Amino acid sequence: MEQAIIQVYTGPGKGKTTAATGLIIRALGQGCKVLLVRFLKPEQPQSSELLILEKLAGLDIITAGLGGIDARKQPERLQQNVSQTLSQVRPMIIGGFYDLVVLDEFNPVLHKGYLPLEQGLELLRQRPAHTELVLTGRNAPAEVLELAELVTVMEAQRHPFADGLAARAGIEY
Ligand code: ATP
Ligand code: MG
Repeated sequence: MEQAIIQVYTGPGKGKTTAATGLIIRALGQGCKVLLVRFLKPEQPQSSELLILEKLAGLDIITAGLGGIDARKQPERLQQNVSQTLSQVRPMIIGGFYDLVVLDEFNPVLHKGYLPLEQGLELLRQRPAHTELVLTGRNAPAEVLELAELVTVMEAQRHPFADGLAARAGIEY
């Protein structure tokens, strides 16, 4: 990217990860090299888009491997998992190989303190100038929003979950 920026998709409404996924497809279509890092996500059950994304050349996917309701009861393990994942991906990001890097659920990682905020901010500041960086997830810290050139807050006007509609494969995951 000639002019790369930091984008944040946050807020309680649906569409943050799907927006980032759409952006990945668009960038790949343009021949960009893309890295998707999935924080706070277990290996299984997989979200359905991965079945397609895994087949696409030009895209590398790293899944942290720990997440979900049960994992939240063990914050120390989550902290360790997040920190390991960041050690793995930091050199990949700083190395400047990618045009687009999506850090899915990075906002909650910082909000919940699974990673010290300063370490997260440091990564944002170290972003190569040609790498577009996209952060998703609820509760993006104000310090993150300050560093971002693009901020979209998804507002939850209505969601069928409140009326008892369970998460559906192919739509919610
Ligand atoms: P999506 O992955 O559908 O784009 P998201 O990334 O905006 O959603 P997350 O905060 O990551 O939302 O939510 C995780 C799960 O909860 C997803 O399955 C998502 O579809 C669903 N979800 C999103 N918003 C809401 C909401 N307001 N109420 C209930 N469930 C939601
Ligand atoms: Mg999401």
